[in-house]
Amino acid sequence: MPTQPGGRAIVKLDFLPERKCPHCGSRHLRIKARPGYLRCGNCDGSFRWNEKLGRLVELTRRRKYKRAPQFGRPAAKRAVFVEAKRLRSQTPPVPWPKVARLLTPEAYREDPRRAAEAIRKGAGTV
Ligand SMILES: [Zn+2]
Repeated sequence: MPTQPGGRAIVKLDFLPERKCPHCGSRHLRIKARPGYLRCGNCDGSFRWNEKLGRLVELTRRRKYKRAPQFGRPAAKRAVFVEAKRLRSQTPPVPWPKVARLLTPEAYREDPRRAAEAIRKGAGTV
């Protein structure tokens, strides 16, 4: 069955007629330029067809995440800064140390001043 690498040319996969990821069974397989190499868009598994073994060999460890890592800060951290900004926009504004204590209690316990400073800086960037 033919498959499409990057939506362009059609590559025939003699060794993988089902065109399913050997690991997760997803059909989101991307065929690499090098013949016999493919990557799964779902679990990010990389596989190579091994002629000698007569089977697909997994090349790299799979990612834990389902999606590609996003640039910038993680969403959870961003949410903290957004919430910090909200607290600061109240009248009267919640003092930074209290914001830090509320939103990042662990960091606050370790070093209240540093936690307050970190959250102040972070909130300034959202
Ligand atoms: Zn997969």
